[in-house]
Amino acid sequence: MAVSLIALTLSWEAARGASGAVPRRQMQESIFYRVRTSQRAVALTFDDGPIPGHTERILDLLRAEGMHATFFVVGKRAFARPDLVRAITTGGNEIGNHTWSHQHLTWVLDDVQRDEIARGARELEQFGVHPIWFRPPYGLISRLGVKDVTAAGERTVLWSVSIDRALSRWGDRAVSELLSRVHPGDIILAHDARPGSFDALQRLLAGLKRKGLRCGTVSELVAGSRV
Ligand SMILES: [Zn+2]
Repeated sequence: MAVSLIALTLSWEAARGASGAVPRRQMQESIFYRVRTSQRAVALTFDDGPIPGHTERILDLLRAEGMHATFFVVGKRAFARPDLVRAITTGGNEIGNHTWSHQHLTWVLDDVQRDEIARGARELEQFGVHPIWFRPPYGLISRLGVKDVTAAGERTVLWSVSIDRALSRWGDRAVSELLSRVHPGDIILAHDARPGSFDALQRLLAGLKRKGLRCGTVSELVAGSRV
């Protein structure tokens, strides 16, 4: 699959001023947060589910709008609610790996990090899902973590637009501010359950439709990317 990805240029390690040069080329090949595309499309992503009472509502909304999304699910939550995992996949949505138990990967030992990534994927495989996308909890991952993700056959995906951040920054104006900033190729971050975010999500999806922007999964966005 030939894709053109816009890479994260500032790694967590660089941001922390860790010693040793970050091999930027390697980071660029391994992490991305938006996609270069000529199509009027964005990706919609939901983290931290499945969460009963919330995930279903999102799935209903996506179905009503004729849209798809990538759900970065937490392995142990998937284990607890297999019915919701099946509901996600049967709706034409995509599932990505968000680790087994949502630990802060930059705070744990290397073998714990590796296990979190592997166990999250193993849980999804029980549903016939072989995740190709990985999102680190809190969006933070070390260079070693990215290598572990890549070795597991997955790609690390962050985001370029966050609904929750917009809500805390702009309050009632969040949706209009977002709509003025969203561009084709953006990857939008939302969560299955955050106060006030479902209402914002409804208005955002309606606004994206008015702008002629199609919402889909990360894979759908990448498939339509400029080669
Ligand atoms: Zn998370």
